[in-house]
Amino acid sequence: MKHEMAPARQQWLDGAAMGASLLCLVHCLVLPALIVALPMFAAMLTLPESFHALAFAFAVPTSALALGLGFRRHRHPLPLAIAMLGLPLLGAGAFLATGPRLELVLSVTGALLLALGHGWNWRASSRPACASA
Ligand SMILES: [Zn+2]
Repeated sequence: MKHEMAPARQQWLDGAAMGASLLCLVHCLVLPALIVALPMFAAMLTLPESFHALAFAFAVPTSALALGLGFRRHRHPLPLAIAMLGLPLLGAGAFLATGPRLELVLSVTGALLLALGHGWNWRASSRPACASA
């Protein structure tokens, strides 16, 4: 097993986690607005109830890998902390929320924090901070 993963792979993981977050934001904010504006969309765009559970299940391993690899490179704890704050919110939105409004608030907040953390992680890792070799 290789000790160091190429930073490109970590950045791909960051991108994937950000993509999942953005997908959730679109799902939570854009789709309902579209459905209100154009009711005929409602019939076509019926996303599965389990969308947030799927997004969460995808985000956990992706985030753990991307943030872990990123931290080893840049040693900044803040992107890690922000994303680690967002992840449980996303999970709470998916599994613990008792109503659609609470699910929306938890999911959107969690997705925003997660995207922010990964964006930061991505940027911090793309700087050649520890060019000790
Ligand atoms: Zn969502």
